[in-house]
Amino acid sequence: MRDHFELRDADAAGRIGELTVPRADVTVETPALLPVINPNLQTISPARLHEEFGAEILITNSYIIHNNEDLRERAREKGLHDLLDFDGAIMTDSGSFQLSEYGEIDVTTDEILRFQHEIGSDIGTPVDIPTPPDVSRDRAKTELATTQERIEAAESIDTGEMLVTAPVQGSTYPDLREQAGAHADATDHDVFPIGAVVPLMNEYRYGDMVDVVAGAKRGLGVDAPVHLFGAGHPMMFALAVAMGCDLFDSAAYALYARDDRYLTVRGTEHLDELDYLPCSCPVCTAHAPEDLRALDDQAREEALAAHNLHVTFAEIRRIKQAIRSGDLLELVEERARSHPAMLDGYRALCDHTDQLEREDPASKSTFFYLSHESARRPEVRRHHRRLGRLDPEGTVLLTEGDSSNNYDESWRIVPPFGPFPRALSETYPLTAEVPDRLDASAYEAAADGVARVVESNPDTEFSLGHWDWPTSALDRVPSRVESFVLGEK
Ligand SMILES: [Zn+2]
Repeated sequence: MRDHFELRDADAAGRIGELTVPRADVTVETPALLPVINPNLQTISPARLHEEFGAEILITNSYIIHNNEDLRERAREKGLHDLLDFDGAIMTDSGSFQLSEYGEIDVTTDEILRFQHEIGSDIGTPVDIPTPPDVSRDRAKTELATTQERIEAAESIDTGEMLVTAPVQGSTYPDLREQAGAHADATDHDVFPIGAVVPLMNEYRYGDMVDVVAGAKRGLGVDAPVHLFGAGHPMMFALAVAMGCDLFDSAAYALYARDDRYLTVRGTEHLDELDYLPCSCPVCTAHAPEDLRALDDQAREEALAAHNLHVTFAEIRRIKQAIRSGDLLELVEERARSHPAMLDGYRALCDHTDQLEREDPASKSTFFYLSHESARRPEVRRHHRRLGRLDPEGTVLLTEGDSSNNYDESWRIVPPFGPFPRALSETYPLTAEVPDRLDASAYEAAADGVARVVESNPDTEFSLGHWDWPTSALDRVPSRVESFVLGEK
């Protein structure tokens, strides 16, 4: 276990954790949002971020400070916390973003890490190479090797109590991300940003984003705090948390406000197109859209930035409560319905069910079956795995109806889980709430459960009583099972 990161509650691969930041003498509860502060241009002051929004941690760019003589001297003299007027934890980026935008920068990892330490950063970052999506495998490998050399070199730099990040790169190659995650995890570093995902997010490629995160997570240990670098839209936080991301940084709240864009958990709206403000934050309860439009540029930008932050922090709180209540995947399902690209993200998450299942708690709040994707959730997968270990004997009836004395054993069947001994009826997740009008996927998953228990018990004789399952489900039931329709419901 890493001594600066403790896991408290879990749901799917999501978790509530405590990140101890020794240099700031602060413990940050995760999932956490780090508002991005541009040291040249503060839309909302760091002091206000703390007082009004409860920000415990923020992120700023040490490269911008380093390259501006005035800021550099003030940071050296007073320290970063005084410069920004913020008592919480401050993480610093290294200029990697500028490197990806402009092709070169004029500092090395050694210089910029020492500078971050000198000005009092609490979490410092080496200069990694943010390899964009879809490049050749050769390029992704070569650049990853450079990033890894720099991460290793950073281990020998004296940075005192400052936590240091080990960014995970590898472009859109999940196996390279996995290898990068394992390499980063084996270093002495403390926080693990998954880098260069911004282009995926800008293009709404949430499915690819999930595959990249899944790769990195396979390499990183469960106890590694993971930062999804550059991810600031609240719409995708629940999805990313369910995949195991702990930290997010948002420049979006300010950048979007500058363009009159209004964030919601269902997507982005343009202020000009809003007739109503679908939000109950202080900005939206005090203004109508036309009031906001009538403000001068600076006041409007500030008001929109404040709204964007309120929405963003509220979503983080909602996610934490969902983890605590054990219904994070229900929240992910809800968010997945806000945009087809988000649905891709959720379906990609379902492709990684086995990976999620390893961390998903054995018992949570009642399982809600909300869509055919629910049939692919980790709880269903786990039940099927358990079925392979049960050994009913003699003649066994698996039925959606009442038990029968004509068999040695009589088990219940509940789609999407499939069969189980009646004694387990009141145990999680078999207490699931499912709609009356079920889809074929639920029956198919139940049939897979039947197949699992039948194949694991070759000497047992099985019969299946069902309420007229679709052919697509019955086709999955092994042919040696005698199946019959129970009659009209
Ligand atoms: Zn609002």
